[in-house]
Amino acid sequence: MSDEAQIRVEVVNAAKAIFSKGLVEAGEGNVSIRHGNRDEFFITPSFNQYVDLKSEDVVHMNFDGEALSSGKLPSTEAKMHTAIYKARDKVNGVIHTHSTYATILSVLRKGIPIIMEEQLVFLGGSIDIGSYGEAHTEDLGKVALDALSYKNGALLANHGSIVCGRSIDHAVKFAELVEKLAKIYWGTLQVGNPYILDDKNLDKFKALFKGLFSNAPRNFLKNL
Ligand SMILES: [Zn+2]
Repeated sequence: MSDEAQIRVEVVNAAKAIFSKGLVEAGEGNVSIRHGNRDEFFITPSFNQYVDLKSEDVVHMNFDGEALSSGKLPSTEAKMHTAIYKARDKVNGVIHTHSTYATILSVLRKGIPIIMEEQLVFLGGSIDIGSYGEAHTEDLGKVALDALSYKNGALLANHGSIVCGRSIDHAVKFAELVEKLAKIYWGTLQVGNPYILDDKNLDKFKALFKGLFSNAPRNFLKNL
């Protein structure tokens, strides 16, 4: 199988994985994988139905927004994916969802403080929320990058979540974790005041993040 064919299969597998976990519904969310060290990536199509997604439906694009394959139209959030690949050399997979609990918090304009150690290891710390960015625009890419800072996941105001990983497998894991943390945080807020972990005591977990899962440029991590 060629590199391109392999990447198409990986996009389909990741898209079906987040669909089967209930993180996206038909027609929403998107998944992409960078094409090696080229300024190109492969992304799920617009109006993706997930259940019948095939590798030939995946759209090959360049960073100028041009489709390099014929067939379906690319996801309308391709500009946000492009912005993340351009800003972060180490990112090889990006996933955007409207998963329910992440979106609830995004409508409340509430980020997720550090409530579990695994949050620090996989995502880098608190899940922050950006200012409102209009869907399908380049502006949403800037908003996403600001909210991500050096981390691997963020919330998009009144919209959903965005995650990026060194691999698409990392990104799938991060998309699941953002939703799980959002659910836990939302749930604890219903009962009382969640206990927030003090990140001064969590250096061991920060080191694991930096070594294993971080994909931010080095200068972002200096002061972590
Ligand atoms: Zn969206």
